[in-house]
Amino acid sequence: MSFDIPFVRPAFPSSSEIAVDVDGILAANWFTNFGPMEKKFARGLSEYLGQGLHVSTFSSGTAALNGALNCVLGRGDGSSYVLMPSFTFVAVAQACIWNGFSPWFIDIDPFTWQPSVDSARAILESSRDRVAGILLPNCLGVGDPAIVEWEHLAGAWELPLILDSAAGFGSRYTDGHLLGGRGRCEIFSFHATKPFAIGEGGALVSRDPELVEKANRFQNFGFDEDRMCTQLGINGKLPEISAAIGLRQLTALDQRLESRREVFAAYQRGLAGTGIRFQPNAAASSLFCAAVCTESARHKRSVMQSLRARRIQAREYYNPSLHRHPYFLSNPEGWRMGDLPVTEDMCGRVISLPIHDRMTGGEVDRVMGAVKDGLAE
Ligand SMILES: *Cc1c(COP(=O)(O)O)cnc(C)c1O
Repeated sequence: MSFDIPFVRPAFPSSSEIAVDVDGILAANWFTNFGPMEKKFARGLSEYLGQGLHVSTFSSGTAALNGALNCVLGRGDGSSYVLMPSFTFVAVAQACIWNGFSPWFIDIDPFTWQPSVDSARAILESSRDRVAGILLPNCLGVGDPAIVEWEHLAGAWELPLILDSAAGFGSRYTDGHLLGGRGRCEIFSFHATKPFAIGEGGALVSRDPELVEKANRFQNFGFDEDRMCTQLGINGKLPEISAAIGLRQLTALDQRLESRREVFAAYQRGLAGTGIRFQPNAAASSLFCAAVCTESARHKRSVMQSLRARRIQAREYYNPSLHRHPYFLSNPEGWRMGDLPVTEDMCGRVISLPIHDRMTGGEVDRVMGAVKDGLAE
């Protein structure tokens, strides 16, 4: 089915701008492996983020996630666990498994939809010795209001904290700081669906320059400066053309994020009093989408139907949550799931409404009209 209002429609550099970049890359005869475009892009990202942060660009968010786990935790032997929510994207648990760790799914907070600190604490109180680390997604790219509590928890139990901020480049924590500076490192994705869209691309960001150096070697077969393989690695490098597109996207980022925030504010105003709830701190995020929670699963079903009937594409991040996907349900390694009542409940009620860069007022009104019609049925 084709939609009048698709879920994603990223603003992209023009074909003539990209042609200029391709000419530059051909003239330099340098296509990948930390070329001039990549170097400039990595520098641009760290300047944007400020706070003395170092950046390793990657070919995808998933490659960066694998780098983060490998460089912080090393390789597991399958016997220890990494705490993570089930209410997230599949790459989070998959990266953990690729690195030899087992996911231990925790529940989420009913108010923020972020991973539940209490759920993690309960596991640590009974099973600390089986846990190697905490992999914490900033849910839907929104800065977790409980980040300080997570830092205290990780500190108290002496566990490394890794943040997956995939959709949240440009988002802020409640203290006003941009995402990127917390935990041992944070990773970002520049996939076409994310507010900072290149197509494919990612980054690992950390205050620790040695960790970032290690991540650079990890993504280049574990080679050091003398092309000697000194650690386990993969090929996860960002090509020059993608870095060039990233540079152009970075220049225009703040204006585009501002336009997304205006759309979100219009949704909040227009849907006030309908019983629909928004995610706390979403207004200070880069607005991957406008995630809303309906009062009941019945309301959600009728809103989804209404949107579809009006050719508006919505999604249901993150339904099904990870522990409902066939691969994780099959549970070949005895992964830990526990009871996840809040996750189950939220999966029945969340809807991700589209937000585009510079979405028109008419489109926003159409989406809100469809939501209200669905609620009235
Ligand atoms: C998008 C996303 C990823 C994967 O990023 P890719 O660039 O698509 O590999 C990982 N984690 C989360 C939470 C995401 O939203």
